[in-house]
Amino acid sequence: MTDDDHPITATQAPAKAPATSPEPSAPIRCLSVDVEEYFQIEAAHSTIGPDRWNDWPSRVQRNMDLLLELFDRTGIRATFFFLGCVAKQHPALARRCADLGHEVASHGSMHDRLHRLTPETMRSDVTDSKRLLEDQTGRAVLGFRSPTWSLTRDTHWAVDVLTEAGFKYDASVFPVRHPMYGVPDAPDRPFYVQGQAGGARLLEIPPLTWRVMGKNLPVAGGGYFRLLPLSLMKQGLKQAAAQGRPAILYFHPWEFDPGMPRMPLSPTGRLRTYTGLKSAAARLGRVIRGFDHWTPIADQIEDLGPLAEKTGVFTLRRQAAA
Ligand SMILES: [Zn+2]
Repeated sequence: MTDDDHPITATQAPAKAPATSPEPSAPIRCLSVDVEEYFQIEAAHSTIGPDRWNDWPSRVQRNMDLLLELFDRTGIRATFFFLGCVAKQHPALARRCADLGHEVASHGSMHDRLHRLTPETMRSDVTDSKRLLEDQTGRAVLGFRSPTWSLTRDTHWAVDVLTEAGFKYDASVFPVRHPMYGVPDAPDRPFYVQGQAGGARLLEIPPLTWRVMGKNLPVAGGGYFRLLPLSLMKQGLKQAAAQGRPAILYFHPWEFDPGMPRMPLSPTGRLRTYTGLKSAAARLGRVIRGFDHWTPIADQIEDLGPLAEKTGVFTLRRQAAA
């Protein structure tokens, strides 16, 4: 808690007026959904590769119906990061989202972690998905989210690829420590990301973290949303608002589908994938009702840019020791 949490009384207000702190404004909060099938998750990559995706029944349409209905009922507009292959298989889905007032953004074409791509293969992956979504919706695609938060120091070259492809923002640098992803020392608020010194700068909008005891806890969604008490996400949302930090949450359509077929996953993969599916829709409803001001990321671009300017430039590629 900070002093900013306490309402300013009428007698205090004039004394506070000359202070340099900015005018309090509505918090920036965005719900985002990575639109992919349950069998495309990274945990299934080694057992169910893209060549076996056709063996598994598609569930994404059913799950998107549920999410779009929930958002419609609660008056929420969100950002949907579409996988190109899903958009290709369900050609009316992205258009339907856009027509409902949601933002359609890109999650790449085939859900390849950037670590498996080269600058050349990533270029065609993201360009193809961007073009497909723009053709389907008739609207510009501004945002990108890498599969499995794979924009890290190891894949710093991806920033140049994304700017060349015409993306206006990225939402994939997770400022946490995790064996598969994350850049723990990256800012926990909007910033400009640069692959290497002198490279292009891209607006980066990281997912929500909750700063506790000097560490960023991931509380933005996914497995963290289903496995951990919901109070952690709420604490993160409250802290972000008190600090004037935007809060970006993320979900997947399959997380709201307790009836999806069970895949051959490792014990950890099973735990992360199948826990909390039954209660996920009710939980999301509680988050939506408990906080307001939800908008698509693109609607906030004009405010996010100056916030990033204030944070500054963060370079992913570490300088070699002299
Ligand atoms: Zn994904």
